[in-house]
Amino acid sequence: CKRIIVKIGTSTIMYANGSINLQRLEKLTFVLSDLKNQGKEVILVSSGAVGVGISRLQLTERPKTIPEQQAVASVGQTELMNLYSKFFFGYGQIIGQVLMTRDIVEFPASRLNAINTFEQLLVKGIIPIVNENDTVAVDELDHLTKFGDNDRLSAIVAEITDADLLIMLSDIDGFYNKNPNDEPDAVLFNEIHTITDDLYALAGGKGSSYGTGGMSTKLVAADHILKKSSQMVLANGEDPTIIFDIIAGKEIGTLFS
Ligand code: ADP
Repeated sequence: CKRIIVKIGTSTIMYANGSINLQRLEKLTFVLSDLKNQGKEVILVSSGAVGVGISRLQLTERPKTIPEQQAVASVGQTELMNLYSKFFFGYGQIIGQVLMTRDIVEFPASRLNAINTFEQLLVKGIIPIVNENDTVAVDELDHLTKFGDNDRLSAIVAEITDADLLIMLSDIDGFYNKNPNDEPDAVLFNEIHTITDDLYALAGGKGSSYGTGGMSTKLVAADHILKKSSQMVLANGEDPTIIFDIIAGKEIGTLFS
């Protein structure tokens, strides 16, 4: 496949103690840069603005009010892009930030504009780094401005860029018949072809304090991907070089195809 979207969750780029996992972030940028050098087109959808903002501002807990959260996201997004910029620069890559709200893809004019922007970035060999624009997305206008989570956002980015593959990296090896953190005898699904209500029933709550949606938002994303006849792999982001193996076609994580 030529055009690849990689989505990374907050739990993958932050340590449980609330600091940034620089080792993993650096490894991720190395892998994506190498894929670029192999001639692939790469788009990164990265969560983590609020987590990084909390770390940067040395807050002891997640702020409670929405304006506070948005202010923290504003600081965190800048810090996160600063880190990505440094690491990617070290591997000879140029990055471009794309902050999205849901209305952008809902209205035809702005949707087309976004499509053209991604196309231009990729044509120019730039790695787009995408996140929800947390600082302006408004909870009260939920349906209009918010994707709700980056799982869904990454599926929509895959759709509007006509990507060949969405690689979703989480803190778990794939989708199981029950939450393996609670039930050690859980069995991994190697392949899923359709998303059914029975599958949603197997998706438990979120795993970490940082995680947003747990498995159900990943199934929503997979459903979106399957309806567009594309593919998605859900795998563990602990070692980002797993991306090389996924692209090489090794049986890793859960393949939705
Ligand atoms: P991320 O931050 O990567 O988006 P989440 O924390 O939102 O990740 O979701 C991953 C978590 O979902 C896992 O760590 C696990 O605890 C939980 N989970 C619940 N049900 C399942 C299941 N059926 N299969 C795999 N993981 C599950």
